[in-house]
Amino acid sequence: MFVELLDKLRCPNAHEDSSLIATASRTVDRRIIEGTLGCPVCHAEYAVHNGAVEIGERAPVSMLTADARSHERMMRLGALLGLDERGGLYVLDFISASFIRELAALSPNSQFIALTGRREMEGAGIVIRGRGPALPLAKGCARGIALDMATPALLRSAAQVLSAGGRLVAPADAIVPDGIKMLARDDEQWVGEREAVPVLSAIRRAPR
Ligand SMILES: [Zn+2]
Repeated sequence: MFVELLDKLRCPNAHEDSSLIATASRTVDRRIIEGTLGCPVCHAEYAVHNGAVEIGERAPVSMLTADARSHERMMRLGALLGLDERGGLYVLDFISASFIRELAALSPNSQFIALTGRREMEGAGIVIRGRGPALPLAKGCARGIALDMATPALLRSAAQVLSAGGRLVAPADAIVPDGIKMLARDDEQWVGEREAVPVLSAIRRAPR
């Protein structure tokens, strides 16, 4: 994982928002290959092994069919995510993450986090091995998230992780979470946009 992206990761346990602290035993360039990420709040530790961060339950990795890897599929995903020259941080589930190299070529200023990978992947800033009820990522850090399998809790956390205007791509049968405005859907997937938090309600919610 890229050291520069460490501040995008969060401890998934239920407590105040907290960044993780890295201890590396092997680094190559600015990437941690072997090491540990520690939470200063609950003292949980997450291993970095083969360049992948182990957070959450080990998830079964589905097989990729040749059909799932076509150029057309890659271009469709890039369009749904709103990938462009501005760049940004994109979070991609297993099938979408197989396109990271091509998507990085389309949008060189973008950075990518892959979910459910086993080891470091070319082009991915962070590979997260495992799956928890929520994404272990900072609120508002991502411009786009594509999920293959989506529980209501995972969808709610994805909405939180997106910045205003960010895109969420999910399976057609997934429930659209609060804060996401549906843009389009077909038999396979829907794409929605993260709504901006109204300024007035943000002020009202602020602690006195
Ligand atoms: Zn913690």
